[in-house]
Amino acid sequence: IKIKITNIDIPVAFASAFEGEIIRRGDMQVEFDGSRVDCFELVQSKDVTEIEDHKIEVIGPDLDEFEVGSKHNIGYIVEVGGKSMQSDFEPVFERKFHSYLNCVEGMMHTGQRDMIRIRISKDTYNAGFRAKHIGEVLYAKVKSEFAAVVDKCQVKVITDPEMCTKLRHELAIPSFDKRDERLSTLTDEGVDVYYSCIMCQAFSPSHVCVVTPERLGLCGAVSWLDAKATNELDPQGPCQVITKGGLIDERTGAYQDVNDAVRKYSQGALENVTLYSIIEDPMTSCGCFECICGIEPLSNGVCIVNREYAGMTPIGMTFPELASMTGGGVQTPGFMGHGKHFIASKKFMKAEGGIARIVWMPKELKETVAERLNATAKELYGIDNFTDMVGDETVAEDPETLLAYLEEKGHPALSMEPMM
Ligand code: SF4
Ligand code: ZN
Repeated sequence: IKIKITNIDIPVAFASAFEGEIIRRGDMQVEFDGSRVDCFELVQSKDVTEIEDHKIEVIGPDLDEFEVGSKHNIGYIVEVGGKSMQSDFEPVFERKFHSYLNCVEGMMHTGQRDMIRIRISKDTYNAGFRAKHIGEVLYAKVKSEFAAVVDKCQVKVITDPEMCTKLRHELAIPSFDKRDERLSTLTDEGVDVYYSCIMCQAFSPSHVCVVTPERLGLCGAVSWLDAKATNELDPQGPCQVITKGGLIDERTGAYQDVNDAVRKYSQGALENVTLYSIIEDPMTSCGCFECICGIEPLSNGVCIVNREYAGMTPIGMTFPELASMTGGGVQTPGFMGHGKHFIASKKFMKAEGGIARIVWMPKELKETVAERLNATAKELYGIDNFTDMVGDETVAEDPETLLAYLEEKGHPALSMEPMM
């Protein structure tokens, strides 16, 4: 492997070759785990005058003070300023931290926002890597990749547990909620353009995501606002404007302009793509979908399964089995990859009748989306507690048992038009 070392002031190598590196429990010096303790990563835009460029502050104990193999809090705030900086760019920078930190030799990062997990290996620690180096990496990468909009950047790395808890709840979560709220007020009808995303063509050469306000990228990490910001930051980059001209079919969300864009950005591999149908010219899937949705013929509905779920589904396939037939950038009518957030969207499979088609989801996923999904079901069909009607692995892992459950609950999919 050819290792290109970027000029960052850290005691270990920095290269994309380390991105897939796994650090096992026995090899780790220390772990930060957002699923157990308060952790977060956050970008905040500030006035340039409030920022001292390249100031890296560590607040709390450094890695030396942690026992080998122990779990701790961490929070880091990257403060940026510049004439052309916009707060809409913040999540776009944040999304890159995953890749930046994984490029550090002996460092592993997963997740985003306040659900991050980081491991630092013993070798990297012994080479002299400390908390401030996390700040050095983020500073150097943000300054170099976003030079067009970032004039000054400073980083706070917080390991003090009380401060992490306080800042997570008083600063980070309110910032994330504010962003989500801003997005939730946008509709597909209410905007003038959509965006393409081809970030995944590196491994799925013909794959194109069409990102709309009500349908985020299937990875779950690229919302319409993110795609818009990505386009503004890098006009020749992975996200391009798609105009909404040439409506072909409102029901399926078919537009001539969308078809033209998809054909262009897939180098002709794709002809037609609809925004709202799983059967008629569905969107393609790369490999990084958070969930897969597939038709379950007996119940006249669809099952959704998330990546974390290891068991069987009533479709008769597990997540990896479904993924192997859904991924790769080809259209597979009846199956599609999508983000978790899309499940509660009014545009979810709108062409086939919408969320009323959902008959099964793993329990954990159901609980995650329940509040938003139930609100959508109430609004669209006047149904209360819709998720109570949806099966999960505790109810059934085969179609017959599932059907009996749906009949007992009076699930709306049973009286809908046949899907196939
Ligand atoms: Fe972009 Fe789609 Fe890949 Fe997400 S899954 S990065 S939206 S191409
Ligand atoms: Zn992808």
